[in-house]
Amino acid sequence: MYSSELVILGNEIKPGQSVSLEMEVAKLHTRNSLRIPVIVERSKISGPTLLCMGGVHGDEMNGVAIVRDIIRKKYNKPLIGTIICIPVFNVFGYLNQQREFPDGRDLNRMFPGSKDGSLASQFAHAFTKEIAPKVDYVMDFHTGGAERFNYPNARCDLKDPKLVKLAMVFGAPFIVNSTYIPKSVRDLFHKMGTPILLFEGGKSLELDPEVVECGVQGAYNVMKHLGMQQGEPDGDSNPIVIKKSKWIRAQYSGIFETRVKNGTCVKKKSVIARISDPFGDFEKRILAPFDCYIFGLNTTSIVNKGDAIFHVSVETEND
Ligand SMILES: [Zn+2]
Repeated sequence: MYSSELVILGNEIKPGQSVSLEMEVAKLHTRNSLRIPVIVERSKISGPTLLCMGGVHGDEMNGVAIVRDIIRKKYNKPLIGTIICIPVFNVFGYLNQQREFPDGRDLNRMFPGSKDGSLASQFAHAFTKEIAPKVDYVMDFHTGGAERFNYPNARCDLKDPKLVKLAMVFGAPFIVNSTYIPKSVRDLFHKMGTPILLFEGGKSLELDPEVVECGVQGAYNVMKHLGMQQGEPDGDSNPIVIKKSKWIRAQYSGIFETRVKNGTCVKKKSVIARISDPFGDFEKRILAPFDCYIFGLNTTSIVNKGDAIFHVSVETEND
């Protein structure tokens, strides 16, 4: 069912081979070229090809560390099939500790890209042509944005049973329904008919060992499920499946102190935060608008009216 022939970036990789390839991102004005390592491990036995990628957003450290640990623990050496790891996808952003490419573009809004487009678009095009068609499954590792800590969750379209199965196997504490953002990596693979699972955990510019461990074990569980590693998946067997979610926004500006832990369930009208001024005059309690799970948290100490402060479930499968 799976082809034994695999050619990536002009290199033929035979069953049983391990290779580290380099994909050229750009030629720099310093006469150096910028390349990203693409690590390919093939079993002698045919099977699916799985792509694990991190750092699509250059400031999302956890994703990079997850793919690194997959390699370090040798989980990327499959019993069957092929595992391709790209730990640092947006190497430009990673070097600068920025989400975007140097031209300010979000790489994750550039797919399938174009040969004559912007720098990010050209890179997206090369990936779309050279790597995307060669893979059967994808795991893309992300974090929340600046000061937005995401409790570890797997994201997928809940209407797609194949993806829901992968998300269940992954075993993160939450599964969050997520539609396809146009021109994202997920959108690209969705249109190609290739199942892609997104992992979100922690926040940008910060390494969180628990989040990293959750992502690594999740990937390992998916590999076991696909027969690429030995054993049975052993992730969270009872994840909270969030069908609909929303961000609660700050109704006031001021010093922001949360009163609840991320990842927990809160009852309607319970106090979830306090917003106050520095002078002791003004203090407002923020109440949960309904019974919900909190799976995203603003970790900043000062908020402005309208800032997103809690990402909560509106409807879960358990409702
Ligand atoms: Zn991201």
